[in-house]
Amino acid sequence: MKRKLKLLFLLLIAVFLVIVILKEPKNTIPDRIKQEVKIALQYFPELKGIPIEFKFKKNIKKSVMQAQPTWSGLLKSKNKRSYVILISEKFKISGEEFKTADVPKDVLIGWIGHELGHVMDYQERGNLNLIGFGIRYVLLKEFVKKAERAADSFAVSRGMSEYILKTKRFILNHSQIDETYKTRIKQYYLSPDEIMEMVKEQDSIKNNLL
Ligand SMILES: [Zn+2]
Repeated sequence: MKRKLKLLFLLLIAVFLVIVILKEPKNTIPDRIKQEVKIALQYFPELKGIPIEFKFKKNIKKSVMQAQPTWSGLLKSKNKRSYVILISEKFKISGEEFKTADVPKDVLIGWIGHELGHVMDYQERGNLNLIGFGIRYVLLKEFVKKAERAADSFAVSRGMSEYILKTKRFILNHSQIDETYKTRIKQYYLSPDEIMEMVKEQDSIKNNLL
């Protein structure tokens, strides 16, 4: 009897894996944010042809958006990878309800740009490294800081500094936004000053090259 159960269990896992592997990655963007996503994607020509599904979710713990590799992509070779960017329907504001799709356009573009920055970071990692990334992200605060700053840096280096700054200022200057979220942003992400510093550096490198 026990052996039968074991076999059944293994069979279930096998079926699950086959379903996951066969699942075709989608490249979907909800209409509500189509324009903003298109603008943000223009800054990342490297991501052309990589399936990214943008998906609204009722609520995401601790953040507004979240970029993740899909399981089906992780089980295939690196160049077959696909991603999902989860977007919280509602924005975390103490007491009041606030829809993410309703924030100013540029702020939303900056937010999406940051997530695409994560995808850029993921693209440079192998599958095992990415799984390790997920584990470290959950366990180590220092690692969260590294990952979030890398995502910001990618977006800034691709020319999205104006949008990224607008998103940051929107969060930090919005008195109604949850303090815990603001603290998180200050702790882990690039600060507006650091972003300006990066832009200055980039400009001077560009000028030296000309
Ligand atoms: Zn992030």
